[in-house]
Amino acid sequence: MPEILVIIAASGDATDGAERSTSREVAHVAQDIASQMGWQWGKVFVPTDYIDACAEALAQHAQSARLLLMAATAKGKDLMARVAGHLAAPLAQDCVGYRVDVSTIIFRRPLYGGKLLADVQYAASPVLATFRPRTQPALGAAADVLQHVIGLAPEADPRVRVERREAETGRALDVTEAAIVVSGGRGMQGPEHWPILEELVSVLGPRATLACSRPVSDEGWRPRAEHVGQTGRSIAPDVYVAVGISGAIQHVAGIAGSRCIIAINKDAAAPIFEVADYGIVGDLFAVVPALTKAIRVLKAR
Ligand SMILES: Cc1cc2nc3c(=O)[nH]c(=O)nc-3n(C[C@H](O)[C@H](O)[C@H](O)COP(=O)(O)OP(=O)(O)OC[C@H]3O[C@@H](n4cnc5c(N)ncnc54)[C@H](O)[C@@H]3O)c2cc1C
Repeated sequence: MPEILVIIAASGDATDGAERSTSREVAHVAQDIASQMGWQWGKVFVPTDYIDACAEALAQHAQSARLLLMAATAKGKDLMARVAGHLAAPLAQDCVGYRVDVSTIIFRRPLYGGKLLADVQYAASPVLATFRPRTQPALGAAADVLQHVIGLAPEADPRVRVERREAETGRALDVTEAAIVVSGGRGMQGPEHWPILEELVSVLGPRATLACSRPVSDEGWRPRAEHVGQTGRSIAPDVYVAVGISGAIQHVAGIAGSRCIIAINKDAAAPIFEVADYGIVGDLFAVVPALTKAIRVLKAR
């Protein structure tokens, strides 16, 4: 059994081996720690439909591992919390960094909605950690490592029955995986105004996608999967464009890892400007189309 296990959520059939870029980022962490510690690492594919049964099976499988790593997606955080419970092991959730100090692994994780960064280490084995998407480089070539698939029969969890699966329609790019995120808040005034953001996303190219603040998804203006913040997705894109978003602490908690934040807001005193690298004070209904037009002109050159 390798000392480090990278847990990969496989949709539906665990044998499909689906690996998203978030898992390749965690694999990069595993490979790096393994080389510094002189350890082996391997992958474990798990079906997360039956999360309770899956956590139990994974805890049994991982008993002799030293470190379990997974992407800090909603499924990843949910599963790893349960596995930590089964193993009575410590869990560093939503890490944004790590380092190896002699033979100790130190994890860096945000606290108080990203206002503080804590470096944590544990004198226990195994230790569990999840890594926030897009905070680590992805492992390029598929490494030749041990792979294990945990298979569960549907009756493994009698409370859950998967009847059918529907692929998400619309943009394929998940908000946690996008390099550029254009996010709309209550200042957008209604779902009928989203085409101006969609147009901006489309000129920004295939690595861009849409997100929103919580009231926007609560109102049903946009799908819940787009909601970022403390109670939504945590993201770390290269560029985050906040449009008509005030910048409440709960919102900023989910976007603080962004490398560059651009805010568009008509209120110069909006808190979003305190965390923004660039700010445009103005009416979004004038600013966004002008920005889209300017980018289109620049790209045409
Ligand atoms: C426990 C808890 C958890 C929460 N979790 C989250 C979370 O995960 N994510 C999240 O987003 N929120 C979360 N919230 C809610 C959060 O506190 C804020 O209420 C919310 O983020 C505000 O959303 P908003 O910025 O879209 O709206 P508002 O605060 O209403 O801001 C709208 C902004 O749009 C600007 N504006 C209006 N019209 C225009 C215009 N024409 N042009 C330019 N600017 C304009 C206004 O100046 C204003 O700054 C949570 C709250 C609680 C209590």
